[in-house]
Amino acid sequence: MKKIRISTKFIFITGGVVSSLGKGILASSLGMLLKARGLRVNVIKLDPYINVDPGTMSPFQHGEVYVTDDGAETDLDLGHYERFLDQDMGRRNNATTGQIYETVIRREREGAYLGATIQVIPHITNEIKQRILDVARRSSRPDLVLVEVGGTVGDIESLPFLEAIRQFSLEVGQENSLFLHLTLVPFIRAAQELKTKPTQHSVGRLREIGIQADMIACRSEVPLERSLKEKIALFTNVRAADVIDATDVPSIYEVPLNLEHQKMAQTVMRKLGLRVIHRPRLEKWKAIVERQRQLQQEVEIALCGKYVGLQDAYKSILEAFQHAGVANSTRVKLRWVDTELLTVDNIDKVMAGVHGVLVPGGFGERGVEGKIEVVRWARESGTPFLGICLGLHAAVMEYARNVLKLRGANSTEFMPRTKHPVIHLMPEQRKIKHKGATMRLGAYPCNLLRGTNSWRAYRRASISERHRHRYEFNNDYRQRLEDAGMVVSGVSPDDRLVEMVEVRNHPWFVAVQFHPELKSRVTRPHPLFRDLVKQAVKRARHK
Ligand code: GLN
Repeated sequence: MKKIRISTKFIFITGGVVSSLGKGILASSLGMLLKARGLRVNVIKLDPYINVDPGTMSPFQHGEVYVTDDGAETDLDLGHYERFLDQDMGRRNNATTGQIYETVIRREREGAYLGATIQVIPHITNEIKQRILDVARRSSRPDLVLVEVGGTVGDIESLPFLEAIRQFSLEVGQENSLFLHLTLVPFIRAAQELKTKPTQHSVGRLREIGIQADMIACRSEVPLERSLKEKIALFTNVRAADVIDATDVPSIYEVPLNLEHQKMAQTVMRKLGLRVIHRPRLEKWKAIVERQRQLQQEVEIALCGKYVGLQDAYKSILEAFQHAGVANSTRVKLRWVDTELLTVDNIDKVMAGVHGVLVPGGFGERGVEGKIEVVRWARESGTPFLGICLGLHAAVMEYARNVLKLRGANSTEFMPRTKHPVIHLMPEQRKIKHKGATMRLGAYPCNLLRGTNSWRAYRRASISERHRHRYEFNNDYRQRLEDAGMVVSGVSPDDRLVEMVEVRNHPWFVAVQFHPELKSRVTRPHPLFRDLVKQAVKRARHK
């Protein structure tokens, strides 16, 4: 076995029993606590599916696609990493089975392995290990890398990843790596008892593949008593003190504080021989959680899309509202409006009483006409409105149809031969045939027009925001729309792409081509979400 010489330490996070236990939140929370102690932390998420990236998956399958500054379409856990660590992620922070195989197969065709039979072990596992090392060897030289393995232990797909981290831990030295396993300890209501058997099984399953968990985090509805921790410890070869409570909490931002209370970061540092740099700086975070617990007022905002009720599909938007709520000392209640079911006849009833409207991004024709109706309703009723990506498209179509009276104005995404293509394919998109990673992706600069609500939100001449789209505002209609009262409040530096629009004589109507939700952080709420909520509060007061 060859040794890897590196001063970085590694924490491998696996999940057992069921999916959706919150490995991403656990990894983010632990990372945040370690970073708060002065350590340089980085994260990589390993996803066992065969898609090269989640960009081609439906939000129903995968939840939101999180776009990074460098234009990668990644897992939504990267959003948690960014929000908890307040640190930008990029392409390297997410690797999928699809990417690993793509690399290995391309290299095989180039002749890089001439003579060899390409196999899962060692070729695939080596490439997985390489991806982990790439994150550790970045110029930022992290003291510690958290490696989150997607999926659940026992899945066929996860096996190469688990084998790779097993080897990796031996190669960097077991004293430099730590296995943290997250499981479920279900509460059986009829027996009024917490059950440890699933945890025993899933830790055993890990042991079968040669991984001994060093710490176990137990997701449960109620805190675990000492005796239960001892029982888990006995069956799993860990100390009772290394069995951590991951009890349900009202807000994900309380998770780090719960772990801190159990001294988890100290335990991890001791196990890995990491030296304390300074005492944990958690004051700001604690203050935010405290404020979040005591929100004084409430506003209701309509979230009008087609993945209604599916929390993961709009993850970053929901989080951005949490941040904006705290900034305004206001609880943001969301009314999920399914735009497929909206008509001219029922809209007043469906929207009655909301203080703000958000139309998020989306793809495909379903629900678009409903979104256009929502825009009309918000514009005519003077309700604060934020449109994102497809939400901007809907805003432009609505204005063209109802104010400019261009009948049937549409986006060529939905009607390729429309008479008035107010939204159309960007020129660089016209020749593209492949669907994967070919949109306009990642961060681009945008210049703001002084005096607009967009400018008032950011108070800067130039901003950078992340994109994920193929269609754009058609400049052939720009003059006419502006003459009719639409304000182009943000443009690309070459003035070619309209990135933000507003409506004159409306309290607050802003639509943007980019995705502001991707850049909202716990300690730095996004200015557009902050102002939308602020305006909603105003509206609630004056009603
Ligand atoms: N479907 C639209 C486009 O591709 C909008 C995309 C989005 O909302 N993210 O341009």
